[in-house]
Amino acid sequence: MRYAETGVNLEVDLTRGNIVRVQTDPRDTELYLGGLGTSAKVLWDRVPPEVEPFSPDNLLIFSAGLLCGTPATGCNRTIVSTISPQTRLMAFSMMGGFWAPELKYAGYDKVILRGQSPDLVYLWIKDDKIEIRDASHLQGKGAIETSELIRQELKEPKAQVASIGLAGENRVYFASIEQTKSSASRGGIGAVMGDKGVKAIAVRGTKDVNIARPVEFLELCQEVLEYIKFREDNPIPGVMPILAGLGSPQEMKVHDEKWHTENFMWGNSRTRRKGFWTEEIEKAWTETMENARTRLISCYNCPMECGATISMPGLPTYMMKCFSKLTYTMAAMSDLNFGLKIAQQATEYGVDGFSTPQVMAFALELYENGILTDDDMPDMPSDNEGRFYYLLDKIVRREGIGDVLANGTYWAAKEIGNGAEEYAHNNIKKHEQLPLKLSMLNPIYFLMYSTGEKINITQIEGQFPQMPFPKREQREAFVKDWFQVPDEKFKQYFLDWELRGEHSFPYYPTVEMICDIVDWQERMHYIDDALGMCAGLSSFPLKPPYHIHNYPKFISAGAGIDMDEAKLTQAAKRYRTLVRSVNIRRGMRRKDEKPPKNHWKKRFPELETELLDGYYEFKGWNKEGIPTKKTLDELGLDYVIEDFVERGILTDSEDAPSKKATAGKEQK
Ligand code: SF4
Repeated sequence: MRYAETGVNLEVDLTRGNIVRVQTDPRDTELYLGGLGTSAKVLWDRVPPEVEPFSPDNLLIFSAGLLCGTPATGCNRTIVSTISPQTRLMAFSMMGGFWAPELKYAGYDKVILRGQSPDLVYLWIKDDKIEIRDASHLQGKGAIETSELIRQELKEPKAQVASIGLAGENRVYFASIEQTKSSASRGGIGAVMGDKGVKAIAVRGTKDVNIARPVEFLELCQEVLEYIKFREDNPIPGVMPILAGLGSPQEMKVHDEKWHTENFMWGNSRTRRKGFWTEEIEKAWTETMENARTRLISCYNCPMECGATISMPGLPTYMMKCFSKLTYTMAAMSDLNFGLKIAQQATEYGVDGFSTPQVMAFALELYENGILTDDDMPDMPSDNEGRFYYLLDKIVRREGIGDVLANGTYWAAKEIGNGAEEYAHNNIKKHEQLPLKLSMLNPIYFLMYSTGEKINITQIEGQFPQMPFPKREQREAFVKDWFQVPDEKFKQYFLDWELRGEHSFPYYPTVEMICDIVDWQERMHYIDDALGMCAGLSSFPLKPPYHIHNYPKFISAGAGIDMDEAKLTQAAKRYRTLVRSVNIRRGMRRKDEKPPKNHWKKRFPELETELLDGYYEFKGWNKEGIPTKKTLDELGLDYVIEDFVERGILTDSEDAPSKKATAGKEQK
């Protein structure tokens, strides 16, 4: 009997229209857990680096996390993995909502898509009955509209539908996959779904998920619920409101946007607007949100209500994706309520709420500086809001300049030339980032930005406070009940961390301490992504209900795997290293591991080199960021060693890469 997982993957060959149920190996679950972990293994095994993102041989893997479908509160993430058209590296993007638990109840852990369908289709999974159905009548339809039409067509109001909009169909590099209540947006995974000719996957399941030791498991769930209640009653003092509580990150309940609007950049990530958040603005924004927000909603089996349905006059009701409420507004330098309007259209088109506004602001900056002209933007309206709607339409239809912009700022700048590359200044590994630019180097964030393979800062941070608390008494109070730390030393790091003086940034915490902090934060995210846990209850907020001490108990009681903290840490390290190995094999090297050039005004090049060197060594990677043979061997990844040696990435005798292998090609 398999516990927590079903032990079955669905393999769908879209070229042949073939569907096969495949029993998975339970040993893989022990080694890689599930979700992201086992998906990384599938991608390593079956997608060699020669495979282009838009190739029938690329895989698009929808995976439920290991504990999805169990009663574990907030465990509902679908992890979608593929090779990204934009970064040309492995993309793994998560969505909350209800899709993953439904897949488990239908009897499957993963849906693995390969090949390319000659015509637009959708997949209908109802327990043991699986069909590839014609979707020609859904061509061009919005993502949310598609979900509703499919539910009606199937007469299955409870079916959970993940779908793409026009952007995915047209292979826009930052196209998302949408569910009614969530989306997987980063890395252009929606474009790969469109390339495969799949408009949607609808799932309905009525089976059970087995729990190894149900009484023990339910007791653990009860403890989590009680702690959530405790944290709700005891928000963390001394931090900004959005970080004081749990959730992801309560964007729909908390209307205090002083920190975001004054610290994040506006326009094409250029302008800081200190003093923007006046009493008047706060009042107007609170009123706008209270009127627009029709209902607070939660993902499957979660009491947190982080999401909200938004109804703007004259527009259909839709679900707001957390921070998207501000990204369009700030990029367009417009009124705050503009974001609530354009996000409805963007959700139907199915685009990423971080990249899309950045791409449009980039285009407008090129226009203002004469690099793009009226010939490139015929009939463009004169106001910023109108221009954003205009560009959004052009991009998702790939019309005119929209065809170039649809590849994201990095590739678009290369194609436009004439100095455009200087304007594509907010990317990491070719992927647009949150427009957060600050004054002095933050060494913790430097490492997370540079080495994080989710290539998305908001999904790496979390466990350690972002800033020191000004007074020692405050720090002492904070560490008192900080039982989530994997080691007591973290408390000391924080206690001694000060705003100014010897024990402040950039030289304190020390390189060694920073490696520990970054590794802890990253480890928790990787565990979440294998288990299917929402980061909002685990790796993202301070003092969360899930942590390194109770996770092994959840896995043991839920999946029946004998787990402890050391084994869990080792498993997370194993598939984290495998993700890196997939990317190393695709050409990623040290030269790619850097934050946007102008992310901080004050930089410390020597310290940065030391940080990268120190972290690589800490992780068991060589100077190029390639996992060494020793590391791979310790993790049981001998098949990676073999491959690396065969390809000349590591030489037979040492851990140094050959010259040939460090070159890393770049082509679109
Ligand atoms: S904490 Fe929020 S985002 Fe996370 S599962 Fe719960 S409702 Fe969804």
